[in-house]
Order: sequence, then structure tokens, then C-alpha cells
Amino acid sequence: MMAPVPIDRVREVRTPVYCYDTSLLKETLETVRFHISDRPSWKVHYAVKANFNPGILKLIASAGLGADCVSGGEVRAALDAGFAPSDIVYAGVGKSDEEILLGLDEGISRFNVESVAELKVIDTLARSRGKVAPVSLRVNPDIGAHTHANITTGLAENKFGIYHGILPDVVRIALSLKGIEFKGLHFHIGSQILDMADFSTLCNRIADILGRLDTEGLPVSDINVGGGLGIDYYNPDDITMASFGAYFSTFKRHLRSDLPVHFELGRSIVGPCGSLVCKVLYVKEGLTRKFAVVDAGMTELIRPALYGAYHHIDNLTSMMPEEKYDVVGPICESSDVFGKARMLRCCRRGDYLAIRSAGAYGESMASSYNCRPLPGSILY
Ligand SMILES: *Cc1c(COP(=O)(O)O)cnc(C)c1O
Repeated sequence: MMAPVPIDRVREVRTPVYCYDTSLLKETLETVRFHISDRPSWKVHYAVKANFNPGILKLIASAGLGADCVSGGEVRAALDAGFAPSDIVYAGVGKSDEEILLGLDEGISRFNVESVAELKVIDTLARSRGKVAPVSLRVNPDIGAHTHANITTGLAENKFGIYHGILPDVVRIALSLKGIEFKGLHFHIGSQILDMADFSTLCNRIADILGRLDTEGLPVSDINVGGGLGIDYYNPDDITMASFGAYFSTFKRHLRSDLPVHFELGRSIVGPCGSLVCKVLYVKEGLTRKFAVVDAGMTELIRPALYGAYHHIDNLTSMMPEEKYDVVGPICESSDVFGKARMLRCCRRGDYLAIRSAGAYGESMASSYNCRPLPGSILY
């Protein structure tokens, strides 16, 4: 169930403002916990990059999830929000020395390493600190997920991970380094994946890779299957929960039951609970269409401009019949459009619009392009 945006609170603050339904977020976290409760060795790490609003992070930390970070700044944000270092994993193709040292000094639970070059740097830095870095190797499984080209990450042509063909050699290198403790394998094939067949393909590829390492006498203590579970952007009031049941059961069916499995879910946890609320500044009659010009732009929510992503839009304050609008922002870019030819209750200056399902990759990707202030937030 989605609770309505608290319009009275919105009226008291500057718009655009992100509004987060914390009861939906808590219900989502409960649902995730329920689906893995029969697998004590499974752990879900929340992908911090989806939304690092401190209030959201604290709520997720207190629900017992771990944190999946992709920068030193995210490691710091996770620690500040109360995630234990032993619940923090850190991935990324381009970790700087400073970021690696932060992870080592804080004693995070895992570095997900993406190349031999990085492995050697972590080894050197760990030894310089008299430490041994716990490492998983990120594998590029060469699997295409059925999602947007910019958010598929598991193809051989993508920059991510170590090509699976050379993995045994890289594991042997990891095992030979004194500053490295080789633990497991890490995968992440993309984002906004709705077809469970993509995840079963991943499971089958993982089983092949584990079989191959096993024959070569190379032990793997756990695996991390990444994130990527998609949400329904088209029906935000009817479908408020990602398909966690189908998702986790795919892994239960296709992976060895004795294997500790880690997940890194971002979008599916926070996406549905957030709305970007903005105000209509002007209704402008174009030659062929009407524009609702709002005070939010690609600076607050870049997904439509970046990926052509769809977000449902509601007029929260009009009771009048629907009309057709292009909903556009104020930024000096033609791609600064939230939706074209959308049916919305008749818009007038001062109406509040909610751009829905904006809890993931919304606030966290906001910028101050055009010298705009960053958006505030309301947790309700
Ligand atoms: C972005 C990312 C995730 C989370 O992806 P979602 O689609 O938001 O679930 C998980 N793992 C890694 C390594 C990532 O880069």
C-alpha cells in the first residue's frame, strides 16, 4: 500500500522536494527479509548508490541489511548511517588508493575486485598497513540482460569485471598474494531487469564457473549475485512491490543450496517509495501541444533525460477533467522533459505534481547544473 504524499507538509517547504513513504519502505524490507528467512547464510546488501538520503539509509541499516558501496564516499555514508563495517562490501572498476585505504582502515567485509591491476594495488596497500584484504573477484559473465543498453553491465564489451575465461588464472594470482584473502565471486548483470530468465541464465553461468574452479582445485566460499531486480514504473499505485518472491525463488531453484549467497538490491528496495513533488510554474500553449512547465528538472531527476525512462505523473491538487500535456522542466536542454502527451487533471499555475517511483536513482543523481540548489526531502 502506498500512502498519499502529505501535501500540507509539501506546501511548507521549497519545491521540488523528494517525498518518501517510509511505511512502504519498511513493508518492502520486511518482504525481503521474509523471502530469505529460510536461508540463514543469505544476505542482502542495499546498493547505496540508488539513494543515500541519510534518513533512508538509517532505516535500511536498522532493518539489518548490509550496504553495497561503489565509492569511498558511499562507504563513509554507510558507516555514518550505522551499517557495521562487517556488513559493507565495496565494488567499482576505478577505486582510488585513498578509497582502498579507507576500506582497509575501517575493516569492511569485502572488496569486489574488477581487474588484476586492482588486485595488485590492493595487495600492496593492505601489506603497507599490515592487513589482509578480503576479496571477491567480479566476474564478467558475458550475459546480456533484457534492459536498457546503458544499464546492462554483464556483457564482454562492458567495462565491468574480469572475463570469465581467464578467471582460474586470476584466482591463482589472488591466492598467491600475501595481502589478499580470496573469498568468492561477484556478479552484477544490469539494472531494471524484469525477466527472471535473465537471472536463471546468470545462475547457470555461475554453476558452470564454480564447476570449473572446483575441477581446478580452487575453492570459493561464497558468491554475490549483484542486484538488478526491476520495478513497475507504469502502475505505481497498484504494484508497489518488486517481484521479490519470483526473484529469490529463481536463485533457490538454480543455485546449490549450501552456497552462501549475497544480493545487492538497490532500485527494487527504494524505487517505489519515492515521489518527486514539484509545482506547475506555467501552462504554456504551444503550436501543437500544451506544456506544463514545472519547477523540477533533469537536475533533480535525470532518468527520463538520460535513459528515456518512464515515470508516472499525477496532479495532486486538481479535481478538474484530464487534459494532455508535455511535462517539462526549466533546464536549458531539450531533453529536460518528464513526459510527453501525458493525461493529467487540468493543470494550473501552483498545482503540485508528483513524479512517481522516483525513490531510486533520483535524489542520488541530482546535480546543481544551472546553479540550482539540491532538492530537499520529506520522510513521511
Ligand atoms: C548498481 C549496482 C547494484 C544495484 O543495482 P539495482 O539495479 O539498483 O538493484 C548492485 N551491485 C552493483 C555492483 C552495482 O553497481
